Amino acid sequence: MKYRILVVEDNQLNLELLCDWLEAEGYEVLSATDLQAGTTAVQTQQPHLVLLDVKLGDEDGLSLVAWIREQPNLLRIPVLAVTAHAMLTDQERILHAGCNAWIPKPVDFKLLREHLDRWLPDREAPSVSS
Ligand code: MN
Repeated sequence: MKYRILVVEDNQLNLELLCDWLEAEGYEVLSATDLQAGTTAVQTQQPHLVLLDVKLGDEDGLSLVAWIREQPNLLRIPVLAVTAHAMLTDQERILHAGCNAWIPKPVDFKLLREHLDRWLPDREAPSVSS
C-alpha cells in the first residue's frame, strides 16, 4: 500500500512543487492550505506523515502539530516542519512544538527523501486509527 502524506502549505506554488514531487515518488498525497483544512485532513484521512509549513499566512502552523500531539490516536504521526526560518531559536520552537524534524526552504528534495526514509515506518503503515 502507498504511504499517505499530508502537505500543509499556504503558498500555492510551493504546495504544487511538493505535491508533484511526492506523487512522482509514489506517495499518495493530500494537501491543505490552512490550519482548519489541515486539522480536518489529519482527522479524517489519518496520513502517515505530515509536511507542515510553519507559517501559514497569519496562522502559526505549529499549532497543528501541538494539536496532533494531544490526540491519542494521532500523536504518533511524524510531522516534519518546512521553514524558511532556520534560526536556532526557531529550530527549538519547532522541535518543542512537537515536530520530529525540520527541513529548510527552499526544499532540497534529496534531503526530503532522506527524511521520509527516516521517519516513515519501514514495513507497514502505522495503525493510527483505533
Ligand atoms: Mn507559508
